[in-house]
Amino acid sequence: MTTSLHPAIDPSRWVPLTATPWVNRFATELPEGTFYTRQPGEPLPSPRMLHWNPTVAALIGWPAAIPPESAEHWTSAFAGSSLIPGSDPLAAVYAGHQFGHYVPQLGDGRALLLGEIQSPTGEGWQLQLKGAGRTPYSRMGDGRAVLRSSIREYLASEAMAGLGIPTTRALCLVGSRQQPVYRETVETAAVVTRVAPTFIRFGSFEYHYHKGDHAALAQLVEFTIAHYFPVCQGLTGPERIEAFLADVVERTARLVGDWQAVGFAHGVLNTDNMSILGLTLDYGPFGMMEAFDPGYICNHSDDRGRYAFNQQPAVGYWNLTRLAMALSALLDTDSQQRALDRYAPVLTEHLHARILAKLGLQHPSLDEDDAPFIKALFGWMARHRVDYTRTFRAMAHFNPEGDNSALLNGFAPGLADDPWFAQYAARLRQEARPLVERQQAMNRANPKFILRNYLAQQAIDETTRHGTTVMLERLLTVLAHPFDEHPGYDDLAAEPPEWGRHLNISCSS
Ligand code: AMP
Ligand code: MG
Repeated sequence: MTTSLHPAIDPSRWVPLTATPWVNRFATELPEGTFYTRQPGEPLPSPRMLHWNPTVAALIGWPAAIPPESAEHWTSAFAGSSLIPGSDPLAAVYAGHQFGHYVPQLGDGRALLLGEIQSPTGEGWQLQLKGAGRTPYSRMGDGRAVLRSSIREYLASEAMAGLGIPTTRALCLVGSRQQPVYRETVETAAVVTRVAPTFIRFGSFEYHYHKGDHAALAQLVEFTIAHYFPVCQGLTGPERIEAFLADVVERTARLVGDWQAVGFAHGVLNTDNMSILGLTLDYGPFGMMEAFDPGYICNHSDDRGRYAFNQQPAVGYWNLTRLAMALSALLDTDSQQRALDRYAPVLTEHLHARILAKLGLQHPSLDEDDAPFIKALFGWMARHRVDYTRTFRAMAHFNPEGDNSALLNGFAPGLADDPWFAQYAARLRQEARPLVERQQAMNRANPKFILRNYLAQQAIDETTRHGTTVMLERLLTVLAHPFDEHPGYDDLAAEPPEWGRHLNISCSS
């Protein structure tokens, strides 16, 4: 594959890494100017490879460890300082609704799409640097990402993947102690290399629609469908667009259902942070539910709670209506609505299935309506503010034939008196599933390990102060397999200490 060189790219910056073929379909099939601007990274001084993720490397067919003889090249390439032959770095343009308001131009302000490689199994994987310097879409920003938020994104991507939730992945983390970044205080810079089939967002479509360039919109829709939406195969015209929108609606519904089931709050669900593939995208001030509070606001900058935990299902729908509006140039209102109407039933069905699995139940209630039972479950969880993850995990020890007061009152005093548990016991008795089988199934549905803010903070403190990654590595070990027991790692399943309960996580990253 030949690559068109950006005039600013000095040939001496190219470093050979692997023989992997680059395909770069985004750059070769869509024109520059309309969809992106070619752009090299801004060199990062004294870069250091802080972590290389063998799991993601294996996914894309790359070595489990960086070859020591060329380590310097790899580090410099993923710092954005040098370029990998075959890659074709660019910044993509998009727009988006931020906190309900349309912003006509955003774009990769600090991300660079290096290009797309083809893995040995034939899959296309895009590689993107986050924090590699300014681009034409940086607006007032410095194009950088701080080490603190880069560690959070790195850990969260891999934690979500471990939980089986669709997400962008993290290949490696490069830091620099020589690049100051000014946020509330002076911090240092880092670059995370993200990996996904594509980083196209709802906002990518909104940009062309609101600009009135419907030809570009149609071109982006066709590119997206042709490469990422096999369900549309064989369909033409409006039917093809409706099937595309319906599939995005369903993927988003299942994603939001997954988030609610594990207690993940994204924090900034603007349409520019909504992946067209239904992946969790753009980790910022996210948080995992600890003491259960349905109105949990993880983003300290979100003072009105627009993106509170219990608002996510409604926000997911609203964001889809913004996407549908962008597609209105190609699809009539009735067809849009038909696609959007898939949201509520798919989300409810998916979420209920996940909650029943967490409770070890195999069948819906006799009247086929689990909503009241699930509502009552969340009711006592909220009243007693029990730890979401630890409580579900411990429910595997609930015995429908015996006395559960020690177990339940251990979660919260007086909890055993809640009438919900009699209903639960009755349903378990009805199903008569062998105890051991149920316990094993519940342990596959209820993670023991989640990325609690205080744990991420410990990894951040260690790496920023000492440049070491002991905690980061320990966390990745358990988060990659969060349903398993990990002898010697039980401290990472603990509820937060007092200092870690109300960490102030803002948008600043
Ligand atoms: P985010 O809140 O990270 O999803 O970013 C929203 C928009 O602001 C995107 O277009 C980003 O590329 C851009 N942005 C965020 N931080 C920076 C930064 N430090 N420099 C340049 N652009 C940024
Ligand atoms: Mg974003």
